[in-house]
Amino acid sequence: MREKIVTGNWKMNKNFPEGINLIQEIIEKGNSTPNVKIIVAPPFLFQYEAFNLLKNTLIGLAAQNCSEQENGAFTGEISAQMLKSAGTQYIILGHSERRSYYHETDQVINLKIKQTLKYDLKPIVCCGELLEEREKNEHFHVIKKQLNGMFEGLSAEQISKLIIAYEPVWAIGTGKTASPEQAQEIHQYIREIIQNSFGGVVAQNISILYGGSCKPSNAKELFEKPDIDGGLIGGASLVADDFIAIAKSF
Ligand code: PEP
Repeated sequence: MREKIVTGNWKMNKNFPEGINLIQEIIEKGNSTPNVKIIVAPPFLFQYEAFNLLKNTLIGLAAQNCSEQENGAFTGEISAQMLKSAGTQYIILGHSERRSYYHETDQVINLKIKQTLKYDLKPIVCCGELLEEREKNEHFHVIKKQLNGMFEGLSAEQISKLIIAYEPVWAIGTGKTASPEQAQEIHQYIREIIQNSFGGVVAQNISILYGGSCKPSNAKELFEKPDIDGGLIGGASLVADDFIAIAKSF
């Protein structure tokens, strides 16, 4: 059975007291959902404090990025090793905002995946097409190219440690959700790509999350699809009631 997962990507939101309150509220409201793994991904600032708050709960802790470098003179960067030592368990990698605003390529994301796995952290690896790519019917090609680039040099055992998130860029923060059929079609395709390169067991066991304007009102119909194993949630993860309502949509 694949793990059902709902991850809240806070992006660059919440000051320190607000963030701590949100984590406490999520623990209160979401710590009794054993059929779904709830993960919060606050900014770096919160990681150690969040680790202390979450350590005796069922809720997981993710960061939103890490450096592709091991350590050294890289001002402003945070390494996978540092995050591991602060209690982080998962790292979101290759989010479309990192790709578009910080010019991250599949090759850089590949290095970040390797750093993350080196420190026994679980990468939540994002892929997704732009609106113009979907309009030109290039979405299957784009997803395949992103996955092949990000998976370069990884073994089946390493791939089995990943969580994948399909996030069509045109659906992120726009209020335009992919239809359950559009999302299912790509999730199934991602599973096929993994099956062809890394085998059926890896493909059947890997969790593939949908992200893009997922909210309490549309989560259930998305999560009912056979290849959609949960969600990567942006805006709606900033309100504990909405986030937990999504997690309870299975
Ligand atoms: C995201 O940024 O990962 C995301 C899915 O955002 P939103 O839910 O706000 O569309």
